[in-house]
Amino acid sequence: MIKLKLKDGNVKAIEAAAPAYEIIRQIGMGLYKAACCVKINGEVKDLRTVVDSDCDFEVCTFDSIEGKKTFWHTASHILAQAVKRLYPEAKLAIGPAIDNGFYYDFDVEKPFTQEELDKIEAEMKKIVKEGIALEQFERSPEEAVAKLREADEPYKVELCEEHADKGEPISFYKQGEFTDLCAGPHLMSTASVKAFKLLSCTGAYWRGSEKNKMLSRVYATAYPKAAELEADLKQREDAKLRDHNKLGRELEYFTTVDVIGQGLPVILPKGARVIQILQRWVEDVEQKHGYLLTKTPYIAKRELYKISGHWDHYLDGMFILGDPYDETKECFALRPMTCPFQYQVYLNRQRSYRDLPMRLGETSTLFRKEDSGEMHGLIRVRQFTISEGHLVLRPDQLEEEFKDCLELAKEMLGTVGLLEDCTFRFSQWDPANPKNKYEGTAEQWKEAQDTMAKILDHLGVEYTVGIDEAAFYGPKLDIQYKNVYGKEDTLVTIQIDMLLAQRFGMEYIDADGTKKLPYIIHRTSLGCYERTLAYLIEKYAGAMPLWLAPEQVRIVPVADRHLDYCRDLAAKLEAANIRCSIDDRAEKVGKKIRDARLEKLPVWVTVGDREVETSTVSVTSRREGDLGSMVQGALLDKLLDDIAKKVR
Ligand SMILES: [Zn+2]
Ligand SMILES: [Zn+2]
Repeated sequence: MIKLKLKDGNVKAIEAAAPAYEIIRQIGMGLYKAACCVKINGEVKDLRTVVDSDCDFEVCTFDSIEGKKTFWHTASHILAQAVKRLYPEAKLAIGPAIDNGFYYDFDVEKPFTQEELDKIEAEMKKIVKEGIALEQFERSPEEAVAKLREADEPYKVELCEEHADKGEPISFYKQGEFTDLCAGPHLMSTASVKAFKLLSCTGAYWRGSEKNKMLSRVYATAYPKAAELEADLKQREDAKLRDHNKLGRELEYFTTVDVIGQGLPVILPKGARVIQILQRWVEDVEQKHGYLLTKTPYIAKRELYKISGHWDHYLDGMFILGDPYDETKECFALRPMTCPFQYQVYLNRQRSYRDLPMRLGETSTLFRKEDSGEMHGLIRVRQFTISEGHLVLRPDQLEEEFKDCLELAKEMLGTVGLLEDCTFRFSQWDPANPKNKYEGTAEQWKEAQDTMAKILDHLGVEYTVGIDEAAFYGPKLDIQYKNVYGKEDTLVTIQIDMLLAQRFGMEYIDADGTKKLPYIIHRTSLGCYERTLAYLIEKYAGAMPLWLAPEQVRIVPVADRHLDYCRDLAAKLEAANIRCSIDDRAEKVGKKIRDARLEKLPVWVTVGDREVETSTVSVTSRREGDLGSMVQGALLDKLLDDIAKKVR
């Protein structure tokens, strides 16, 4: 007798070992039809897994993340099968599930056109209708490589050879005439993938590196029900309207230029203005929180990065100026982080316990050599500017200072309106990871992570855990944000570091006269300005809150004879630091107003004969609609009042 503890607490007993799908069928046909995979003792497994001992047994349907991934991965096999049927010469690369669907990379002569995608979709429908059963089988590493060579699938051979080193059997999945190298898990049959849509076909380098061949990536999504697919497609259409990578270019916040390079956006005047407003505000608020502003170089000799550990742990991520391996010549690198530079401020003289905590802030530009395949608008870039900071502190100050860092970040994210959509991730190291990735011993990591867990619990922070997401010197609290397509990135980070102070000899003299090593907090407050700008554009669909709008008021004269009056009004607004302009183009007033609306300005005012006669303006606010006639002073008061309240 084998006992399975189900998720609802009930226990299901079975006579003898049986595959999971068989057991689920006994529980109920409805559940069997909806099942995508199972979790056995918390581990995700294929429905075909034979259960032969007592365990915790959880069935994952499409409603769970694990279920969705299994469903989408099966859909990706259907896509690949359809492509192979129609284009037998296509070579298969990889086809994983992603956050909101799946993709498959193919090596074909040229990317698929919309017409070809339609054909592929029709073929997929056939495969679903055929209701082909998926089967799993295993081969020895040698047999697996030979099989893939024979099938003439060079990318699969490359992947397989990497796994073959481990000596473990290699798993395949087969559906009809189609076989794929695959660890699974998978659905039982192609019949369950009822509703799907191929979304686009774009170029993607093999393994994300531009040194490799450019492949054709087909993005798609799939659902058990047509209504769910429709809702998703509708949401994607809405997302496109907010996508900063499109809208931010149209509204002229930024652009990219081929000869400058990918991931190196050119911030246009409107974008630069928003960043300037944010930056001045952030620096002021930080100084109120006791931060000392620093300004340190963007490059340094290799020797600095050797002390900091970046040379050992982060060399691939840095832009190097010179030959990194020729020790006889000077070699510089652009900075990927500010830490080793800001520590020099602390190290400028001997410090005592009275100097701590020392809070250092800097508006810091950083450079990271990421693959061009990873680049995305203003969110994934190779050069960016962050509200950087490092706190050097005594161990007894850690919790208090961590709390202030968190409050500061929350205050800022709340003010710009992004906090409500943020989630928190406690990013930890991975003890099983290749030793090259992390500094320090297992004991040091345990201490740092336990301390951080305690602080987070005290502060009542609700978080998820991210394994292998830590910095090389310590655990992090990452404040995460999702873009319009659901892709998550870090917006703000607060990190505890018990290791680097020693490398830099940062001892302070304690009250008892002995030398002690401080702790360090690495943190940002609003994070990366480019990324924040991207999220603001998406959050507000390009219509910036009044206090952040690059242009707050557009003044629209009805005719040229009203220009003097408009100039007088503009001077008054500018004197009060309101950003405004006069639309003195030789256009009809209707066209000027339409443009103000399209440019998503917060406020525009029109000035005609009546306004000049009565010393008033006709005000329209994007937020409140037509506000009617207002005297100039009242308009100014209202604007200043709204800005002081930092209205959205
Ligand atoms: Zn697969
Ligand atoms: Zn740092």
